[in-house]
Amino acid sequence: MIIEFGVFFTVLSIAIITYWSRILDIWGVILATILGFYVYLAGGFHLFLSLLLFHIFGGIITRYKYLKKRSRGIAEDKDWSRGWKNVLSNGFWVAAYLLLHPEGFVASLGGLATAIADTFATEVGLLSRKKPRLITNPLREVEHGASGGVTAIGYLGGILGIFLMLLPETFSNISVEIVMTTIGGGIVGCTVDSILGATIQGLYRCEVCNSLTERKIHCGARTKKERGFRVIDNNIVNFISTGIGGMVSLFLFMAPLSI
Ligand SMILES: [Zn+2]
Repeated sequence: MIIEFGVFFTVLSIAIITYWSRILDIWGVILATILGFYVYLAGGFHLFLSLLLFHIFGGIITRYKYLKKRSRGIAEDKDWSRGWKNVLSNGFWVAAYLLLHPEGFVASLGGLATAIADTFATEVGLLSRKKPRLITNPLREVEHGASGGVTAIGYLGGILGIFLMLLPETFSNISVEIVMTTIGGGIVGCTVDSILGATIQGLYRCEVCNSLTERKIHCGARTKKERGFRVIDNNIVNFISTGIGGMVSLFLFMAPLSI
């Protein structure tokens, strides 16, 4: 009971800090609090810590990006704050897979690994001197941060992110097998994210500044669609890829292959 109270107050204080630092808007905070507490109850303390690490890294990166953009004068109004859609797209499968007891834990880790690998791959990829290449057409270079672009160093960053996320699990005597299946699911999920980003995700061109963007509004004006579908935004892509990442981890775990 004492641990439950501890976790509850930890979740609550993090929710308040998250809202106060404008990393999430109010609905994002409410949903993240419910998800966080549920993951603790259904998946245990270590999985809860892994989710928390993702939340903290993701929050720091979002905030850092916003400050950098603002200093260059290109920040948009909504850049600073992520809403419930962001929380749901990254957290839905992490929570839902836990209903498949007990193997669901492996799938849940795979979904979370996808989300964290995607975040880390994007950020570490920025360090690459070479421009990212489009995953569906490696001969084509794209701008840093463009959806569908991949770099070798980005993949390494993604694996690093998964290892960081798994740190709390080492206290629960996690098996080498689960570490491997989590990395496998995360890498496949992250790759699916890039493929969807390069194909069906809506990409638009701003007719004011002529840059490519994922936003429907840029420079205060409506953008023109360049490829993909309007209904498929980054959240939908994250939702699909975290679901697939989890399934791949589960499949690798259940498959009769001994590592
Ligand atoms: Zn523009």
